[in-house]
Amino acid sequence: MKKQILLSTPHMGEQELKFVQEAFETNWIAPVGPHVDAFEEEFCQHTGAGYAAAVSSGTAAIHLALRLLDVGRGDEIFCSTLTFIASANPIVYQGAKPVFIDSDRTSWNMNPDLLQVAMEKRAKIGKLPKAVLLVHLYGQCADIDPIVEICQKYNVPLIEDAAEALGARYKGRCPGTFGTIGIYSFNGNKIITTSGGGMLVSDDERLVKKARFLATQARDPAPHYQHSQIGYNYRLSNVLAGIGRGQLQVLQERVEARRRNFEIYQKALGNLPGIEFMPEAEFGRATRWLTCLTINPQAFGADREEIRLGLAEKKIESRPVWKPLHMQPVFAECESIGGEVAEDLFMRGLCLPSGSNLTDEDLERVIGGVRVSNCNLKYAHM
Ligand SMILES: *Cc1c(COP(=O)(O)O)cnc(C)c1O
Repeated sequence: MKKQILLSTPHMGEQELKFVQEAFETNWIAPVGPHVDAFEEEFCQHTGAGYAAAVSSGTAAIHLALRLLDVGRGDEIFCSTLTFIASANPIVYQGAKPVFIDSDRTSWNMNPDLLQVAMEKRAKIGKLPKAVLLVHLYGQCADIDPIVEICQKYNVPLIEDAAEALGARYKGRCPGTFGTIGIYSFNGNKIITTSGGGMLVSDDERLVKKARFLATQARDPAPHYQHSQIGYNYRLSNVLAGIGRGQLQVLQERVEARRRNFEIYQKALGNLPGIEFMPEAEFGRATRWLTCLTINPQAFGADREEIRLGLAEKKIESRPVWKPLHMQPVFAECESIGGEVAEDLFMRGLCLPSGSNLTDEDLERVIGGVRVSNCNLKYAHM
């Protein structure tokens, strides 16, 4: 029996277990402790962020970011439509409303021109959004500079959801460090993982301190338990922060391994008719967290769903590109600025197994599986 090849699995290095053991030996089995502090500090060194707060998930980090910016009932948030639902769920937790913005074809991320148009319209009626939530998808940065410029022009804070883009670069700098607040995720499928976890960063120390305060039940400085605000239990465990410290040490290797997967796939499949790989925008360096491609079914002879099912039969997991949020039943009532590009990427887009721990043999199996789905159909049509 051949082993299952999954989309993206955890890949531990050499140091993680040592840090975890240290947590056990010192009995720091708590959502505070030396690994949490060190992880935050080392994360800042890695990304160039000013300050960081380690939390229990990327979703929690987004929720805290919205709270820090006083997002509340009736507010609007401009949000990338092509993303995982976790980007937008916290908007709803806060009683606010997402307004979705379509992607461009260069980066698959938020189209700055559409953002400008939407912002201008809202400015005219005196109802600017409370924040812009920009997602860097599949390890590739959006075109950040023009988006920052638009946000500054209208004085609207920018939150960067860099959950999928740790290790990427935009004009040499790390995504997540350009906006007012950036967030990252260490979920099990991300480029580095703590099993579950996240990070909130900002250059504004006050915001990060407040994030830590809110993440620990908003306890006022008093020996008794006193609270003048509603908080959350969102801090990262010291044990998991130990895993994070080890993972940070191998981040660069993980990026190179995922880029290598992409190159091997592209070399083997790139010149098949109807296959196009996700472009790498010239303004940045992608991590290729997931290798994504689009299929033109007429030219290829099979659509992305036929390829996906063919791979599944061979015990290979692949996934459609994210279903855009403006197409999700739960957001049916929400406004969307454009959406056709994201819809097309969803209809034709497929993510191939992309873990940094895939072997050459695994990659060969995936490549073979994609090729066969193309041949089968050709023969079927003859
Ligand atoms: C994974 C992910 C999140 C959420 O992170 P969790 O740690 O799983 O809560 C948010 N946004 C995007 C784009 C993601 O891929």
